[in-house]
Amino acid sequence: MAGPERGCLPLPIGAPSDNGQWRAGRSSTAALEAAPAPSHYHNPFTSRRLTHPTPLRHVGDMAILPRIGISQCLLGENVRHDGGHKRDDFLLEALGSHVEWVPVCPEVEVGMGTPREAIRLVGASRAPRLVTITSGIDHTEAMAQFSQRRVRELEALELSGYVFKARSPSCGTTGVALFNQQGTETQDGVGLFAQAFMAHFPLIPIEDEDHLHDPQAVQSFLERALAYRQSRNNI
Ligand code: SF4
Repeated sequence: MAGPERGCLPLPIGAPSDNGQWRAGRSSTAALEAAPAPSHYHNPFTSRRLTHPTPLRHVGDMAILPRIGISQCLLGENVRHDGGHKRDDFLLEALGSHVEWVPVCPEVEVGMGTPREAIRLVGASRAPRLVTITSGIDHTEAMAQFSQRRVRELEALELSGYVFKARSPSCGTTGVALFNQQGTETQDGVGLFAQAFMAHFPLIPIEDEDHLHDPQAVQSFLERALAYRQSRNNI
């Protein structure tokens, strides 16, 4: 029998916040009380005000955010191999005031540094290697070990979803460039960190950022993340 679709769970009650911090901290599920939803929230990334789509939950007078992992370059952090970023203004504006971001850059956190030589996936799609393009340094084992450790840390943070950078050999969830030994390119790859994440969290809602470029898609993702959190809290 086929398993449940990733992130396809009953709709829950939401939990936005207005502090705009990315910091990760443990959320308490105790003493939750429903509270009337204020109609607008300050968006920390754009200084614009957005309407939240769902009712709120609070601990005391503090709203609780759904905690969402994100490829760090999408937040505008200069963590890419070229020293730049891939800030996604639409995503941050649409979702930023409704969630608590938990940024992760696997390549920086594994110790590759910034700037660094670009990497790509090489070999068979079922077991690709993560290799620097020019010098051929193989980071596969280091990334695998890092990923196993990092997903356990993220589990402890009780994530409710994750937004990945599309097409990245570390973060892309599908359609990542994969090169065979002859240098021929297909789009059959999956980023190594994303692969480990999806194996560890088979039901958590995930998206590549380029699937979150219209308001309906953002709304749907937020609802699925809130549903996932609600289902986890009910266990
Ligand atoms: S795509 Fe992933 S590994 Fe690459 S810079 Fe962004 S967060 Fe870091």
